[in-house]
Amino acid sequence: MLTQVAEGVLIHQSELLQNNAVVVQGQAGVLLVDPGLTDDELTCLANDLSEMGLSVVAGFSTHPDWDHVLWHADLGEVPRYGTARCAADMREVRSNADWKARAAEGLPPEIAEETPLDLYGLITGLPAGTVQIPWDGPEVRIVEHPAHAPGHAALLIGERGVLVAGDMLSDVFVPMLDDFNGTHDPVEDYLVGLRVLEDMADGVDVLIPGHGSVCGADQVHARIEQDRAYVHALRDGGVCDDPRVNSPQPGWEWVSDIHAGQLQRLAQSRRAS
Ligand SMILES: [Zn+2]
Repeated sequence: MLTQVAEGVLIHQSELLQNNAVVVQGQAGVLLVDPGLTDDELTCLANDLSEMGLSVVAGFSTHPDWDHVLWHADLGEVPRYGTARCAADMREVRSNADWKARAAEGLPPEIAEETPLDLYGLITGLPAGTVQIPWDGPEVRIVEHPAHAPGHAALLIGERGVLVAGDMLSDVFVPMLDDFNGTHDPVEDYLVGLRVLEDMADGVDVLIPGHGSVCGADQVHARIEQDRAYVHALRDGGVCDDPRVNSPQPGWEWVSDIHAGQLQRLAQSRRAS
């Protein structure tokens, strides 16, 4: 089911993980951001669009995580953009002979059988520094920053007052830091990303996170503060009263495992340095 969240902007939410696919209406068709997860959901989205007389003219993936780089043939063969880093990451993944088996292993077991991998990660990288998505529709500004994943980008649709945040500012997921690989500081990277989003927040009427519920202007700063408080708590030793960590929502218990895993990896990386 497509739900309008702003003029010419609609979302389609997955059941597992509450991924928000974002549809932006342009002159000749729509831009589709982070399409969704399962065969059924992607087909449902394609049908919803065709019932509205809309076709997809371009795609965009906010970052190179499995749940943001899927596609379905029914959505059409169109350019699927991402930042240069996002595309490079996906090229590397697909360059392994057994990439599909590895990708399948990483899927949540509940939907592993129903998640189509043929068109997984076929992202066209936009040259570094590209400021907007090349398409015939409202200007969609690409705001790349170092938080969460390589080449992660938020999108700002100024004319519509919409910020598409990718995997940040969620009401269901705590901030998930990028890998602790020793070459950079994922805590500081995340705080930089939050500052970048904060700088854009004032003109935003509708915030669409990668997962969870959409919120209005009155909640944008609170979401930023909540993410920042979580990252500070993680950095400072983990005392954390973030409601997302102990979610009462069925199915979201494992957010506390994400939190525990991050605490552990951070402690390990500190011991190693
Ligand atoms: Zn995600």
